[in-house]
Amino acid sequence: MAYSLPLSKPSIGASGLTGYWRLRRPSVSYDKCIKCYLCWLYCPDSTVDINERGDVVIDYKYCKGCGICSNVCPVKAIVMVDE
Ligand code: SF4
Ligand code: SF4
Repeated sequence: MAYSLPLSKPSIGASGLTGYWRLRRPSVSYDKCIKCYLCWLYCPDSTVDINERGDVVIDYKYCKGCGICSNVCPVKAIVMVDE
């Protein structure tokens, strides 16, 4: 008998489009980024993507502005700015 664990897997925009209610957005300084990808790993809405150059790219259509990516960045390459 097949058995599967009840795991929750994040998917891009799982909680829907953000719309206009976000108050702050993350801004990435690429000259500081060391490409550790912790922001990609910790974003709860999977809205941090990695492009072909290995740069992190935030999809603002879905980003909720929670600031977790900014908090986990070890080199402060992501700052939260007002909308
Ligand atoms: S602010 Fe939150 S939702 Fe937006 S990219 Fe950062 S961790 Fe993801
Ligand atoms: S957490 Fe910071 S240093 Fe790491 S990939 Fe994201 S922006 Fe770059």
